[in-house]
Amino acid sequence: MQYRRLGTSGLQLSALSFGAWVTFGNQIGRSEARNLIAAAWDNGVNFFDNAEVYAQGRAEEVMGDVIGDLRLPRDGYCVSSKVFFGAVDAPNPLQRGLSRKHVHDACHAALKRLRVDYLDLYYCHRPDLDTPVGETVQAMDTLIRQGKVLYWGTSEWSGAQITEAVAFARANHLHAPSMEQPQYNLLHRTRVEQEYAPLYADAGLGTTIWSPLASGLLTGKYNDGISADSRLATSSLEWLQAAVLGDPAEDRLGKVRRFTALAAELGESPAQLAIAWCLRNPNVSSVILGASRVSQLQENLRALELLARVDEAAWKQVEAAFA
Ligand code: NDP
Repeated sequence: MQYRRLGTSGLQLSALSFGAWVTFGNQIGRSEARNLIAAAWDNGVNFFDNAEVYAQGRAEEVMGDVIGDLRLPRDGYCVSSKVFFGAVDAPNPLQRGLSRKHVHDACHAALKRLRVDYLDLYYCHRPDLDTPVGETVQAMDTLIRQGKVLYWGTSEWSGAQITEAVAFARANHLHAPSMEQPQYNLLHRTRVEQEYAPLYADAGLGTTIWSPLASGLLTGKYNDGISADSRLATSSLEWLQAAVLGDPAEDRLGKVRRFTALAAELGESPAQLAIAWCLRNPNVSSVILGASRVSQLQENLRALELLARVDEAAWKQVEAAFA
């Protein structure tokens, strides 16, 4: 494993981390979840990502249960939660968003579900246009001063929104956001590479990026259709299928077919190639992997070995496949 600093903070996260979205509390059972966390840990993963909304809190319960069961040392791993969407069906206005109340309540609920005394990383899962940004910054700062959160950050905030939060924190001597959690993969690059560019140096921002395989699309598993046991076949996720396969004009599948043919020519796994491509960006602190089975996770964790093998000419060909 390789370890990278979270922006300019002193926190060294594993370059490959592991997240619970779709799978924990939903697609897979507890024993597979346990095997996945154990395999990740055995391979040097030290950051496990979660959110209040994942399976309406059940993903955090399963993760807390499994980490407790595995007796992982609390000083050896990081765990996160995210606040915004709520953890119940049809949340009322107090049960969602980034008000001081919901940030406070959601943090305490996540601590219980994850069975920890503090969250290492706590994210605002989306911006909340109904709450002044200063209220949210103050709420996060309070949790940090209380020792309940160590680092706070944002997820899918615009560059301007993050800049406003940093400016408010600095002006009021409060803890500023340390990280963003954006989508980043070969099909989705602009925000991380362009919009956030000034924030890496100016605000010391780190990034923990999600969907490095675009929900599995970049493995090539959807090149010839959607198999029944895959994420895009999940009945409650029709919206995701549309988002991942994209607009016909974008021809995402055509690009992925070119990419997987190139991977075959290079003799590399498309999944490893796509993950290693994310790791080439020095502003990526950690690539959060998702997996529904241990064999996928083991394949993906070997992306680090590929980084040393693939030369610049091949990376140019990879990017050209998506042009
Ligand atoms: P990926 O894009 O890597 O997709 C993971 C899925 O792809 C797996 O569950 C599996 O789905 C399939 N897959 C993975 N590896 C392979 C392989 N080697 N061969 C074949 N299929 C494979 O990541 P996620 O979208 O899961 O995102 C990772 C994490 O990021 C999440 O768990 C979550 O913690 C975080 N996240 C954060 C978001 C945010 O808004 N902040 C949003 C989304 C995710 P299957 O087997 O079911 O087909």
